[in-house]
Formats: sequence, C-alpha cells, structure tokens
Amino acid sequence: MKYDAVVMGGGLAGLICGIRLTQSGLSCAIVSAGQNALHFSSGSFDLLTHLPNGQRVEKPLNALEKLSELSPMHPYSRLGKLSVIKLTHLAESLLQQSGLKLKGSSDENHDRITPMGHKRLTWLSPDCVPTVNLHHKMKFGKIAVVGIEGFLDFQPQLVADELKREGLHTEAHYVHLPLLDRLRENPSEFRAINIARWLDRPENMPQIVEEISPLVADADTIFMPACIGLDNETPFLELQKQLGKTIYLLPTLPPSLLGIRLHETLLRQFRRQGGILMPGDKVTSVNCVGSRIESVNTRNHGNIALKASQFVLATGSFFNNGLVAEFDRVYEPLMNLDLCDIPPRAQWTNTEFFASQPYMSFGVQTDSQLRAQKDGQTIENLYVAGAVLGGFDPLTEGCGAGVSLISGLHAAGEIIGYFEQHKAEQVEVTQ
Ligand SMILES: Cc1cc2nc3c(=O)[nH]c(=O)nc-3n(C[C@H](O)[C@H](O)[C@H](O)COP(=O)(O)OP(=O)(O)OC[C@H]3O[C@@H](n4cnc5c(N)ncnc54)[C@H](O)[C@@H]3O)c2cc1C
Repeated sequence: MKYDAVVMGGGLAGLICGIRLTQSGLSCAIVSAGQNALHFSSGSFDLLTHLPNGQRVEKPLNALEKLSELSPMHPYSRLGKLSVIKLTHLAESLLQQSGLKLKGSSDENHDRITPMGHKRLTWLSPDCVPTVNLHHKMKFGKIAVVGIEGFLDFQPQLVADELKREGLHTEAHYVHLPLLDRLRENPSEFRAINIARWLDRPENMPQIVEEISPLVADADTIFMPACIGLDNETPFLELQKQLGKTIYLLPTLPPSLLGIRLHETLLRQFRRQGGILMPGDKVTSVNCVGSRIESVNTRNHGNIALKASQFVLATGSFFNNGLVAEFDRVYEPLMNLDLCDIPPRAQWTNTEFFASQPYMSFGVQTDSQLRAQKDGQTIENLYVAGAVLGGFDPLTEGCGAGVSLISGLHAAGEIIGYFEQHKAEQVEVTQ
C-alpha cells in the first residue's frame, strides 16, 4: 500500500495534518491505535495562556517573542513568530471549514467557565460553552444550574456558589429524569456519554422538557453538564427551543462529550476529503534506509507494509504511549528517537503539586523544521507533531491544542512543499 504521506496517530495533531494534506490533493493514511486526548479534553483549544515564568497571557500572538526568550526549545519558538501566526490563522479557518462551531480568536484569549464555575483562559471554545470576553462582565441574567440526580461528575451547587461569588444571580437544581433510572442503578455506567445516548433520543424529549421546565421557569439562562448532543447538536438545539431559554453546556469529567464531538467532526472532514483512517491499528515497526523512512508495519496489516514518501509522528505523550517512562528512563517506543534533555530521575517531578512538572515537557528532539532526530542525525522525511514533541508544558503554559494544531499544519505544509517541488522538477526534466 503506497500513499503520499502516512501519519502515525489520529489525535488532534495527526487529524489536522491529514485534513490539510488531503485538502491539497495528496493521498494520506492515518494509523491510529486508540482514544486520544480530545476524548478527555474540555472541548476548548488553548493556544498560549501563560508564559513559562507564570505571567498571564491575554494576547497570545503578541507574547511569542517573550516566549522565545524564555523558552527557546518551545515548538513555537523553533518555528518562529511569523510562521506561528500564519499557521494559527490557517488553523482557525480549517477548523471552521471542517464544520466546527467555535468562538474566540487568536487576537485575544477569552475566559471559559469550568465545571467548578471558575474562569479559565483559552483560545477557542465550542459555541455552546459559556464564555466571557476579557475585561467584560459576565452577562447571563438569572442562571439556573441544572445537574442530573445521581450524576456525580457534575455538582451544580459548586458551580452556582462560585458564580454567586462573581456577583451573578444563580440557583442550583437537580432534575430527576425517570428515563435514566435504569442507567442510574449502576453508578460506574452513569457517565456523560451514556446519559447522552438516552437524552438524544427524540422520543425522550417531552419527558426531559417536562422535568426541567418547572425548575427553570424564572431563569434567563440554563447551565447544564455536557450530556446531550453526542453525534450532533440537534438534540441540544431542540431542548433549547422547547424550553425557550439559552442553554450552555459545561464540560464534565472524561469521557468528554464536547471533545468526542470535535474529534468526530474532524474525522468526518478527513474522510470526506478522501483520507484513509485505520482506527484501532498500531504502527509496530518503522523501516529506514539511510536517513529516510521507507515504510511502516502495523499490527493489523502484518507483513503488508505501508509505504510513503513522507511520514508524520503524532503519537501523543505519555498519556497515549507516544512516550514511555520506566523507573529510570524515558523513551520514544517506535524508533527510540532522540529526546530533549532529560534531567536526572530525582528532577522529573516537582514536589509542589501545582507547580510546573518537568516531565510534562519531555518529548522528541527535532531539528528547526520539526523533523525527528536519531543519534543526532535528522530523519529527512519524518516530521513530529503534537504532544510527542518536547520543549513545552501544555498544562501550565496552556498551549496543548495550539502546539498540536500548529505543528500538525507545519508538517503538512512542509510535505505539500516537498511534492510541489518534486512535481516542478519532473516538469523540468520532461521539457
Ligand atoms: C487528559 C488530557 C486533557 C487535555 N485537555 C486539553 C484541553 O482541554 N485543551 C487543550 O488545549 N489541551 C488539552 N490537552 C493537551 C493535549 O495534549 C492536546 O490538546 C492535544 O489534544 C494532543 O493531541 P495529539 O494528537 O498530539 O496527541 P493525542 O491526542 O495523545 O493522540 C495521539 C494518538 O496516537 C495514537 N498512537 C500512539 N502510538 C501509536 C502507534 N504506535 N501507532 C498508531 N497510533 C498510535 C494514540 O492512540 C492516540 O490516538 C489535554 C491533554 C490530556 C492528556
């Protein structure tokens, strides 16, 4: 099997790369072993919310120079300010073209409301999530925060109390919903996704409306856990219409309905453009000749190799086995690629729980074009994208999705450039 490009890993980085490649008419296969970080995410995308020195960032693109000074190995610093700005704008338009309804802009971060009722800086948020522009007051009128009886992953009282501290008029309620009684019998099954499977059925809508209506009669706005609209927004929009009030959804503990919906939308776009997805498959070995990869083998394809001119490594961090930590060593399991400087074992973690944890920025070492290196040598046709990259801390710097999108699009841009040059050279030869 031969493709123009093979992408290893189908999380946010691999998918955006595949979408850009197929949009340009290149053939692309994504091999993806399992779930990805989107399934566990808030559904909001962070670009850059804090500098490594802890300073809060309101305008992420204006902070890139300072970031380069403080953190020269950060993927944004490696790519350079102009490139990051261009790729950020490309990401915004590609996400929109893929069908995602997101609000926010790279000109200025906004605050989203967390499931605890706190405000948290971010770049892009799904339309249905409550957000507030910086330096603006929250304007939601009288809010009814409605939890679902027995659903422990969302506590309406916590949200309401926090919003009250912000001076908002808020009340907490629980809705019983008898249609969930069977599910409620098993607390480990009583999770956002399983609840959504029941709430999304059109025949259940009258009961949901009947139970929620009296609780929210005098509210202007409803805040609910994100447990409705798993496949698409239709059930959420219908509930909003029938209750006659604006509803906002707050992310829940994983699995995250908002994140899964983002992932499914991006997958559909990749497939619509002719991309080949190999879900549940895993790259098991990489075959190199000199400083180039020729092909990869996967668990499901046995000895039938996937060949390509260009490859992308987007296998995620420790969370998805893109990196592996043993007691005294960290390694990249597919090719044993070079990693950014790893300090001695005692310095992997910081005893202060909320401080930046050094292990968060462990990852693959690259050249300035984000191509992987092994034994100090660049692998010419292997780009690295997303959480497997080293040199940044997605949590304390608030840049996880941004790094995945920008490095994924950078890899795609380099690969498109390679094929354009190749084509031009062929035309020259035939003339
Ligand atoms: C729990 C969690 C929550 C997060 N929440 C947010 C958030 O709300 N906002 C935000 O901006 N950032 C968040 N992040 C940061 C996150 O890292 C990025 O946002 C981004 O989603 C990472 O995407 P990725 O594609 O690089 O990696 P991943 O999403 O980890 O995807 C890697 C994929 O590669 C696959 N894979 C691994 N090895 C192989 C192999 N050998 N062959 C084939 N496939 C393989 C994995 O199965 C997985 O599907 C979160 C991170 C975590 C861990």
